Amino acid sequence: HEAKRSGGNACIFDVSIAEALNRRRALAERFARALVEDRLTLHYQPQVDLVTGALVGAEVLCRWKDEHWGWVNPSEFIPLAEERGLIQELGQWVLSSASRQWVAWQSQGLRFPGRLSVNISALQFTDLSLAEEIKAMAAPVPPEAIGLELTESGFMRDPELAVEITERLRQAGFALSIDDFGTGYSSLSYLRRFAADTLKIDMSFVCDMLENQSDYTIVTTIVAMAHSLGMMTVAEGVETRAQADALTRLGCDRAQGFLYDRPLDSQRFAARWLTPE
Ligand code: C2E
Ligand code: MG
Ligand code: MG
Ligand code: MG
Repeated sequence: HEAKRSGGNACIFDVSIAEALNRRRALAERFARALVEDRLTLHYQPQVDLVTGALVGAEVLCRWKDEHWGWVNPSEFIPLAEERGLIQELGQWVLSSASRQWVAWQSQGLRFPGRLSVNISALQFTDLSLAEEIKAMAAPVPPEAIGLELTESGFMRDPELAVEITERLRQAGFALSIDDFGTGYSSLSYLRRFAADTLKIDMSFVCDMLENQSDYTIVTTIVAMAHSLGMMTVAEGVETRAQADALTRLGCDRAQGFLYDRPLDSQRFAARWLTPE
């Protein structure tokens, strides 16, 4: 490691930066290939009703295992897909694969309750025809069986456009959740205008809520605000029974997290969570 100053600009040479750049470049190429060759997979994580414990839906999470690099985290390959202009294609792949899985469960006589929730990148949230496109990709799965998760950054770029897209999604029958809520910079006045159904409370608040008074207050406030705006709340990253109990007492509606299950491949998910009609 060597740092050197030249002409007033800090000029830092670091082997690990070069390695990281090489990894990124290699991963981006390999990811593009995996996408066209249909070598990505999907995992499903249950979402439960905090009062009854019943399954009310599942979040669809993309997984990629590269032959050389092994499992690559979505927090690494999703930004790569965004930078390389591959996010639309990935979004289509995820949505149509999840829909095929929904149909397959149905034809196996397995009932999937509630909605399959698919993550949507902020970069996909730029087109007025999004609702029509998603409907076409999901067919024959009805919009009433699909939820879309969008982070706050997805509507901060062009809030007026996002309000319009959201409105069309809702008219088409899709549900919309605001993901990682509390970590972004959305204004409360836009939040009110969004036709979002659900706020997903970011796991950073949930994980310390019993040890940290301000996190507990934030969770309490998000639940109260969501309810007064007619929205539902899902707590993300629930890992302990004590957290689930506290969330239930606060009136949080739903939960998702390792306490219930990890994201599972379709077979394990079906075996553990789906019941015959
Ligand atoms: P997210 O949408 O907020 O998804 C929840 C993340 O929390 C998932 O990480 C999940 O595995 C993890 N998680 C769930 N329960 C727990 C828990 O109890 N404890 C802890 N520590 N973690 C838990 P994952 O699968 O690594 O995904 C990371 C992010 O990548 C997602 O965050 C989402 O923003 C993005 N992502 C994943 N799949 C897709 C996709 O198909 N499309 C798009 N656009 N983004 C995706
Ligand atoms: Mg999500
Ligand atoms: Mg989240
Ligand atoms: Mg996240």
